[in-house]
Amino acid sequence: CPLGPALLFVKTSQGKEEGRRFYACSACRDRKDCNFFQWEDEKVSETRLAAREEYNRNHQPSFTHRQNVERYKNFVLLPLPKRRFCQQCQQLLLPAEWEKHSDHQFLCDISTAQLKSPSQLLYPLENKKTNAQYLFADRSCRFLLDLIIDLGFRRVLSVGTPRLHEMIQTKASQEEDFRVRSLLLDIDFRYSQFYTEDEFCHYNMFNHYFFGGEAARETCRKFLYQDNGERVIMVTDPPFGGLVEALASTFKKLMEMWKETEKEGHNSQEMPMFWIFPYFFESRILEFFPSFSMMDYQVDYDNHALYKHGKTGRRQSPVRIFTNLTPSMIVLPVEEGYRFCTICQRYVSSGNQHCEICDSCTSKDGRRWKHCVLCKKCVKPSWFHCNNCNCCALQNHTCEKTDAGCFVCGKAGHKRSTCPSLSHT
Ligand code: SAH
Ligand code: ZN
Ligand code: ZN
Ligand code: ZN
Ligand code: ZN
Repeated sequence: CPLGPALLFVKTSQGKEEGRRFYACSACRDRKDCNFFQWEDEKVSETRLAAREEYNRNHQPSFTHRQNVERYKNFVLLPLPKRRFCQQCQQLLLPAEWEKHSDHQFLCDISTAQLKSPSQLLYPLENKKTNAQYLFADRSCRFLLDLIIDLGFRRVLSVGTPRLHEMIQTKASQEEDFRVRSLLLDIDFRYSQFYTEDEFCHYNMFNHYFFGGEAARETCRKFLYQDNGERVIMVTDPPFGGLVEALASTFKKLMEMWKETEKEGHNSQEMPMFWIFPYFFESRILEFFPSFSMMDYQVDYDNHALYKHGKTGRRQSPVRIFTNLTPSMIVLPVEEGYRFCTICQRYVSSGNQHCEICDSCTSKDGRRWKHCVLCKKCVKPSWFHCNNCNCCALQNHTCEKTDAGCFVCGKAGHKRSTCPSLSHT
């Protein structure tokens, strides 16, 4: 499909062991966005293949990345009053194109500062099923960058983190002794208007597809090559509705790419990584990456009403950092209430109490959890032990046995209709 190789899915119906397998778009979870569909065993005629190829060609952006870089060079030569940005087409305009966009809304006097902050200029693509572009609040973005610097990293592979990339690029252009570099991999092609081919690759993180072909892949490979101690970390903040197994498979390929760039040594090591994702995906992520652990830090977003910082009565963000770095090295801000648990050897939120029985700081959501002796684990403060279900649940839950795991998060104990992650994805 236009977004690269499709993924193989299986349709299962209840009671049946095996379902029928089919290919569908890797990135679009809504058929309205991409309706690619093909049964695994389906024969596709030559004419249909040709039609498909033509469709894919027609659904590529109107300018190539290279053309956009040229356009940018011309754009910055223009005096301020001639620098226009079409809000409808989300495109920087050259004077010869004004005519074509004359009945579109546009912004004038685009400053250098605006060009350096494309994530502010472009509107966030909030389409939940595809892009789900939720931008870091400044506080969280700063925290991430400071942490990366304190940990001694000099290169950041930013996978779906345009705002972090932007913060790094801006600092690099302003501060002479700022040594950190970043490469952005993102599916949002609008960013190609603002970054060169060494700074941005049009990329699909659900199938590890570089739209720019071998040259773009090589850019990424080169970036991952670390010489004279310029250590690399990958930071990713994928759409929360995304398939964890597809993401994990991609991240393993990127880790493999990193490993291949090593001449020797480091063989047993993994590329350091921050995977930013909601806490209720913890078991899914650990399934694929047993070396990861979840940090208590709550990641906040600008354009997400639900995911803002707590404290003032607003809802607390469920989004966390998963990392393969040693937890004790991830220092969380004490002024925001995080403290160091000497037994767990990691920073935890202020409400997260160390449970003597579990021998761990067990809260996942920042509230103080309570230990249930029957369940032999700590549970949410709002839960009570239900003798019917033989586990803890909300007081007003409906008792039901669900043996199979939930379709959405894979956890046992509830069905997809009541999945706690659904309200967020
Ligand atoms: N918090 C981050 C943005 C995360 S939103 C920040 O502020 O920098 C998710 C990001 O992933 C968006 O930039 C979106 O364009 C990108 N994205 C969504 N689907 C993608 C895909 N299939 N491949 C690559 N990037 C994708
Ligand atoms: Zn598609
Ligand atoms: Zn503890
Ligand atoms: Zn406990
Ligand atoms: Zn219980």
